[in-house]
Amino acid sequence: MLTLAHQQPCPCGRLDRGRVVTYGQCCGAYLENAEQAAPTPQALMRSRYSAYVLERGPYLLATWHADHRPEDMAFEPGVKWLGLEVRGDGVAGDQGWVHFVARVRDASGRATRLEERSRFERQDGRWFYLDAQG
Ligand SMILES: [Zn+2]
Repeated sequence: MLTLAHQQPCPCGRLDRGRVVTYGQCCGAYLENAEQAAPTPQALMRSRYSAYVLERGPYLLATWHADHRPEDMAFEPGVKWLGLEVRGDGVAGDQGWVHFVARVRDASGRATRLEERSRFERQDGRWFYLDAQG
């Protein structure tokens, strides 16, 4: 697990009117406080990306839908997350989706691009990551 100061730029790369948003005002609000639930699928998706960057296994498990949650999380050593770009998102009732592209470099130095349309479901007022569609 890695730590990040609240005034650092958020790993998810969110901009507000062209300015970088700090970790404390973005994903850190959820990663550092289990009581604070991400209010939208996009906020949850961004916080889960930041959780991969910061290797926060418990957060990833806690925000994973119980039907699809893995037993535990392992982080590959040497992996570096290079950036996130959200292409679109939407909510219909208690279902939500986020289309994004994440770039990651593996331990051998090879950079790859992960494009995913993630699905989310709201239960008791909290969003959970359901699964990914290609
Ligand atoms: Zn963020």
